[in-house]
Amino acid sequence: MSQSKIWLSSPHMGGREQEYVKEAFDTNWVAPLGPNVNGFEQDISDYLKGDVHTAALSSGTAALHLGLILLGVQAGDEVICQSMTFSASANPIAYQGATPVFVDSEADTWNMSPYHLEKAIIDRLEKGKKPKAIIPVHLYGMPVKMNEIMVIAQKYDIPVLEDAAEALGSHIDGKMCGTYGEMAALSFNGNKIITTSGGGALVSGNAKYIHDARFLATQARDAAPHYQHSHIGYNYRMSNICAGIGRGQMEVLADRVAQRRAIYDQYVQRMSGIPGVSFQLEPEGYFSNRWLTTILIDPKETGGITRETLRLELEKDNIESRPLWKPMHLQPVFSNSPYYGDDTSVELFNNGLCLPSGSNLASEDLERVFSIIESVFSKEYAAH
Ligand SMILES: *Cc1c(COP(=O)(O)O)cnc(C)c1O
Repeated sequence: MSQSKIWLSSPHMGGREQEYVKEAFDTNWVAPLGPNVNGFEQDISDYLKGDVHTAALSSGTAALHLGLILLGVQAGDEVICQSMTFSASANPIAYQGATPVFVDSEADTWNMSPYHLEKAIIDRLEKGKKPKAIIPVHLYGMPVKMNEIMVIAQKYDIPVLEDAAEALGSHIDGKMCGTYGEMAALSFNGNKIITTSGGGALVSGNAKYIHDARFLATQARDAAPHYQHSHIGYNYRMSNICAGIGRGQMEVLADRVAQRRAIYDQYVQRMSGIPGVSFQLEPEGYFSNRWLTTILIDPKETGGITRETLRLELEKDNIESRPLWKPMHLQPVFSNSPYYGDDTSVELFNNGLCLPSGSNLASEDLERVFSIIESVFSKEYAAH
């Protein structure tokens, strides 16, 4: 393969990251605490607006895990989770010895269906167990129907832990993803819209949760001159080096959102004429950071061309694309978990593809992607 690799989404530094990291070296704050950690937390809180508190952590998965612990999730409990998502949304439920109850997606946002959420809650209550938490996931940056989800959550008095790992910068009518629920998890893994190489954060309007998250994330050390413990702790804090990268990345987050959205617009322009291809559209008032551009390919309208046809042709040219998340209720590891839905998520998984969307894609790279797409959907390809 002679062509250079085009990734789905790769790290894109802004320029000032190394200055913050150098400052950490110069002052010897090479530890899981320090001025960059404090500064990064403040930057995130400011960005999310409102009265938000932030704990910078080692990963988004750690944030979800601590969120569940703080909500009191224990062995034998049930936690409702969006089925179509990355396994990291559901794994922390299992870490606690609890059972995930999966809820299907709806067709507008591809995220948690409010209708099936309420059905699931009613049925679990009838079976004698009240779910301890609800985890909706803003996939690919598209906000979940949070206003509808929150009404249901409040009606049944169940706390919401948002998985906003893919949605930093997304909002509904100006209210940021990550500020709807009791708490939210963010991720700064290498492929996310901004990165700290690896990292995450727990955010909440409730300062007590964030205080307790920092305590649990640093081995739950009681106030004493010796090491004294009354709780099981974790080593989940973000390092001051990684937080330095994060501070530099926060300076360019607004640009990254604009760049990702511009890439999405280019795909729409170039592919809008292709019958059978559709996009993840923003409902009225919804704003997606467009972390990844995702399409649906309906083989009934494309003369048999499927998402796999396109994925394999892109792969031949050393271009990475990927099917949408395989729903958790189809995953062998969760085969014993309850599921509520009409398999909208299965249809999305069968027909959906994520396209290269990195904010650092050169226009030549995008042209390479477009030319493969155009050839796959050309009459000549269909005839061969
Ligand atoms: C990336 C991601 C996570 C996990 O974040 P890490 O920082 O990789 O642990 C969780 N949920 C979703 C939806 C993600 O995309």
